[in-house]
Amino acid sequence: MPEYILTIGLEVHAQLTTRSKMFCACAVEYGAQPNTRTCPTCLGLPGALPVLNEGAIEKTVLTGLMLGCEIPPEVKWDRKNYFYPDMPKNYQISQFDLPLCVGGGVPLYDLAYPKDAQKDIAQPGKVVKLTRIHLEEDVAKSTHHEKFTTIDFNRAGTPLMEIVSEPDIDSAEEAFAYLTSLRQILVYGGVSDADMEKGQMRCDVNISVRPVGQAELGAKIELKNLNSIAAVRRAIHFEHARQIECLERGEKLIQSTRRWDDDRGETTLMRTKEDAHDYRYFPDPDLLPLHTAEIVEKVRGQVPELPHQKRARFEEAYGCSAYDAGVLASEQALAGYFEEAIAGAPELPAKKIANWVINALLGALNDAGMSLADCPVTPAALAALVGTIESGKISANQGKDVFAEMMASGRSAAEIIKEKGFEQVSDTGELEAMVDEIIAGNPDRVAEVKSGNAKALNWFTGQVMKASKGKANPKIVTELLQGKLQG
Ligand code: ZN
Ligand code: MN
Repeated sequence: MPEYILTIGLEVHAQLTTRSKMFCACAVEYGAQPNTRTCPTCLGLPGALPVLNEGAIEKTVLTGLMLGCEIPPEVKWDRKNYFYPDMPKNYQISQFDLPLCVGGGVPLYDLAYPKDAQKDIAQPGKVVKLTRIHLEEDVAKSTHHEKFTTIDFNRAGTPLMEIVSEPDIDSAEEAFAYLTSLRQILVYGGVSDADMEKGQMRCDVNISVRPVGQAELGAKIELKNLNSIAAVRRAIHFEHARQIECLERGEKLIQSTRRWDDDRGETTLMRTKEDAHDYRYFPDPDLLPLHTAEIVEKVRGQVPELPHQKRARFEEAYGCSAYDAGVLASEQALAGYFEEAIAGAPELPAKKIANWVINALLGALNDAGMSLADCPVTPAALAALVGTIESGKISANQGKDVFAEMMASGRSAAEIIKEKGFEQVSDTGELEAMVDEIIAGNPDRVAEVKSGNAKALNWFTGQVMKASKGKANPKIVTELLQGKLQG
């Protein structure tokens, strides 16, 4: 049985976070009353003229700079002609041979792979090459009812950025990591919210399989209707196996488009295209070519510290583990929270704060279905709690209870500790009295300790903890016992 090579390229359409549409001043507002955010331009009425949205161009250039693309000095706008019921002009204004961004790549972050695949990453540190990024307009949204279809033009003409990768992705897991990393970067730059489940990011998968030893790629099969990053992974797994089975049966694969059905877990044929579409592209006569130099200069200063740069800095500056730094850097808000907590308590080990943010805070937010923006515990309040634990005033276990209470009520650690009577007894005099009493009452055990039985010492610690109802500072108790019994 021959072995097969899987090759994948992704085309991602991302909605930009602009306030207005691509070629008119209509508001970009999802969820508004249907057909209330329209004008002659985005309805495609005869004679209406397009005007470029500078914000959309800046956001696309910013994306290009974040992903290491080249920005050509001059770009242009083209009409892509095809009939589509959702597209009133019967052409889409897009970019053909001179797109805004060329080349570049998307780095695949370790933690962007599916959890079950993170231990076995085939090419750690891989950067998936990009072909191009261009800017175009979205179509209207149709909703299919039982006997008719309704159409909402609020989405027509909204800016859409298309990010096209090279056929440089080798597995379903890499495709998953690509989309997750790309989303992180787009959100970092504030260019798109990029949530596939909300349709803010849409992905078409081009996938082909060929036997090892064959130079040219196998027939390109395009997958549509992928509504989440996890669905992309599932669809590729299915399609990979299906194509190999076809080849094994001696069938010839032909270039075609297939629809993914996530409930049934399979793809079905939509259409075959023996030849690529002829869109009869031509330069849009209503729009002049665009010179990019000034925009690039303006946008260069807006390039943020990217997730992988932040991760490297967290490892270096704070001694975070690669994993912790990766989790903290995955979201700007989370990274900001962590750094604010550190700034509020520079004397504490950053590693401890990282632990509390990743384990306690993220866990609690997750359990409560809450976002960091709604978190009742401020970075300073969390730092204060960690400080109280580090000073030995309360135990780490008590700290967990206090934290749960802070999450529930938004009150400070100090207030809760006082109310619960959690304060540890660290007063050496008080503890010494307890220790002496227990030593005096248990001469047999004392003899055991003196004969070198370390476990017997733990027994004494346990007795003192019991006598203090759990409030004694165990570190001080052990020190006292060691001094008296082993000294
Ligand atoms: Zn409009
Ligand atoms: Mn497109």
